[in-house]
Amino acid sequence: MATETSAKPLTGRVAVVTGASSGIGEASAEHLAELGAAVVVLARRAARLDDLVVRIQKAGGTAVAIAVDVTGAAAVQAAADRVAAELGGADLLFNNAGVMLPAPIEELATDQWQHQIDLNITGLMNVIGAFTPQLVKAAGERGVADLINTSSIAAQNIFPNFAVYSGTKAYVTHLSRHLRVELGAKNVRVSAIEPGIVGTELQSHVTDDGANQWLDGSKETIEWLTPQDIAQTIGFIATLPPRANLQQVTIMPTRQPS
Ligand code: NDP
Repeated sequence: MATETSAKPLTGRVAVVTGASSGIGEASAEHLAELGAAVVVLARRAARLDDLVVRIQKAGGTAVAIAVDVTGAAAVQAAADRVAAELGGADLLFNNAGVMLPAPIEELATDQWQHQIDLNITGLMNVIGAFTPQLVKAAGERGVADLINTSSIAAQNIFPNFAVYSGTKAYVTHLSRHLRVELGAKNVRVSAIEPGIVGTELQSHVTDDGANQWLDGSKETIEWLTPQDIAQTIGFIATLPPRANLQQVTIMPTRQPS
């Protein structure tokens, strides 16, 4: 006798997650797979992606790893072409890869400025450029697709020495609001998620002493968010009814004031 299985809410959907080799992207890929989506995980560290794919598959999910540096437009386009050929195209894009390198502006850490601009803005745009046609096509066929961009509370509030990072994230939030209008008319929901501090590898790349002291100090008074907190939020956004689009979500550690 056939047993009735309750369909998972994202069954049949194809999710692409960038920055999936650690932190928020990794946890979100796992959660989207738990919710039934086939997930394609993108980042540069192939071994980390392969481990993630094995974990997802062991849990009964479907996952494909594509090692790619999102700052290269041609490589991202090749990844998108592979997603189209192997999985029929993406209908959920979590555009999440990013880097945070705070430092006083007078230190003229121009390599770090450029790194943040190249990844948080140019990389984000490369991914949007390569996958938007797939999102629009899927939304036309199925009535819904999602583009979720990772911004930050730094897009809204003032953090001394975080000017360049904050500028890149303000770009992400403002871009998302514009794209929501443009793509919403085609049933592609566009969201920006703006987390406060989440404990990930992000902090480990910070080289500025003052910023590291500020982060270390905050850890003593604030219980930081976990990547799983963000993953749950991404799952919530993607499982809302197609008519409902969470435009902008700010999620803070309860004790982080701003
Ligand atoms: P992690 O450092 O853990 O994750 C960053 C991810 O981006 C990694 O998977 C990394 O993988 C990937 N990545 C870095 N450079 C590239 C590249 N050139 N091409 C492709 N992938 C790349 O940090 P988080 O998980 O915290 O960060 C995820 C996002 O969340 C970022 O956009 C960050 O700005 C944002 N955010 C984080 C907050 C926090 O407190 N943690 C708060 C607010 C926003 P690999 O090195 O393998 O390429």
